[in-house]
Amino acid sequence: MVEHSPESNAGHTGISVQISRDSPISLTQEPSHDGLQPLSCSQHGIFINNEWQDSVSGKVFSVYNPATGEQICEVQEADKADVDKAVQAARLAFSLGSVWRRMDASERGRLLAKLADLVERDSIYLATIESLNSGKPFLPTLFVDLQATIKTLRYFAGYADKIHGASIPMDGEYLTFTRHEPIGVCGQIIPWNFPLMMTAWKLGPALSCGNTVLLKPAEETPLTCLYIAALVKEAGFPPGVVNILPGFGPTAGAAIASHMDIDKVAFTGSTEVGKLIQEAAGKSNLKRVTLELGGKNPNIIFADADMDLAVEQAHQGVFFNAGQCCTAGSRIYVEEPIYDEFVRRSVERAKRRIVGSPFDPTTEQGPQVRQHQTRVLEFIQTGISEGAKLECGGKALGLKGFFIEPTVFSSVRDDMIIAKEEIFGPVQQIMKFKTIEEVIERANNSDYGLVAAVFTNNINKAMTVSTAMQAGTVWINCFNALSTQCPFGGYKMSGNGRELGESCLREYTEEKTITMKMVNKNS
Ligand code: ADP
Repeated sequence: MVEHSPESNAGHTGISVQISRDSPISLTQEPSHDGLQPLSCSQHGIFINNEWQDSVSGKVFSVYNPATGEQICEVQEADKADVDKAVQAARLAFSLGSVWRRMDASERGRLLAKLADLVERDSIYLATIESLNSGKPFLPTLFVDLQATIKTLRYFAGYADKIHGASIPMDGEYLTFTRHEPIGVCGQIIPWNFPLMMTAWKLGPALSCGNTVLLKPAEETPLTCLYIAALVKEAGFPPGVVNILPGFGPTAGAAIASHMDIDKVAFTGSTEVGKLIQEAAGKSNLKRVTLELGGKNPNIIFADADMDLAVEQAHQGVFFNAGQCCTAGSRIYVEEPIYDEFVRRSVERAKRRIVGSPFDPTTEQGPQVRQHQTRVLEFIQTGISEGAKLECGGKALGLKGFFIEPTVFSSVRDDMIIAKEEIFGPVQQIMKFKTIEEVIERANNSDYGLVAAVFTNNINKAMTVSTAMQAGTVWINCFNALSTQCPFGGYKMSGNGRELGESCLREYTEEKTITMKMVNKNS
């Protein structure tokens, strides 16, 4: 059970939420503006069968605040033995005749809607932990991540009793219809860049369709996902339906991908690990696999575009979430006549970007998540040595934490590593193009195909480019306009399958055809 003090929803100030033994995190003071953690928590357990459990191995791992580099708390470390336990719980919860399998679809929807309400009730608390653990600025976390999380859960709550098949006029004397049945036990592995949103993207459709779940948050950011576990129990989901396993990729993650009794794996993360997951699924039980992987996304700016809009959207498109987005528009192609002016304005905007404590309300950019700062700085050095022009930024910022200056490169060539590989940091690459044919070819010349954008006031150019892009999503005169209602996923090495939208339900159901021979020949 989760207990809240009277001030639990008191706004940004005066937060005092106590969570009972079920989820021993307690936030006892107002978030301070210098990034020092207000959170005190004891060791946090693994969530299996609606209970908090210690790891079988007895191992724990530390979770850090990337704004200070300091430890927040320790979490029990799940690995293969814990995955086995969770699979048993999820399998039992999925067995024929179980409470979950017998539950009305509308009741499943009600539970998911209740979960959304509980997330909404505790959104300030959740946004605080999310900021603390991931370094995301608090206000965007509250207004973007939390809202998207709640909307996603509500959207899929609404679908629970609307997932139906068709009746088919099959040749011969038959009655034929299809059913869309849950797949079974689903393993879900998520990254650290949007811990809460990814939890909702994964749990929402899986539960709506009637599956049971083992979800592994990223080792860097397990805290909000564990809090969601407490809310799952409070909402009234039966034991074993949702199991949350904090742990590392090569151990817990790999155990999920290769498990013989998991029916589906859904993964969001790097293309590199996506390949390992697909391989493990292929070598084990051919479980269904959906992958949402990396991107090196083109953003095409024509000379007739609204310059103010294009500069700002291109800036937000690459720097949002400190550049740690698979949708980051990091390859910016600008038409020759406006190239110099676009670079000048983009540099000026990047220099104005406010980097600082996630709890300072003016902050636009927090730290990189732990460990990844070094990788991003290496990419910047690679860009410099490849001969790209470093217009601004390029260095780590501050003595504590993992901050990086907003960085802009111009004179980037398509064959440079910084133009081909996903940097996952606050680094913008600006290139020049002359013709629409040329830019379409160059934009598509990538292993990835997640999103693309085009800025122009010419409808023909907008449509020509958007239909030609090899990308799962194309934005015209906007960027990162994602919605729960729209399918999202990648072409090429950006993934397999779609999340969100109605299409996502296909990824969590098996379609069964039932055909009955009609015996009454006179009918
Ligand atoms: P990033 O490079 O952005 O950290 P990863 O793809 O490494 O992204 O991680 C995303 C998620 O995949 C995390 O939950 C991580 O623990 C998990 N993961 C990493 N390696 C493996 C693996 N070999 N098998 C399964 N999951 C993994």
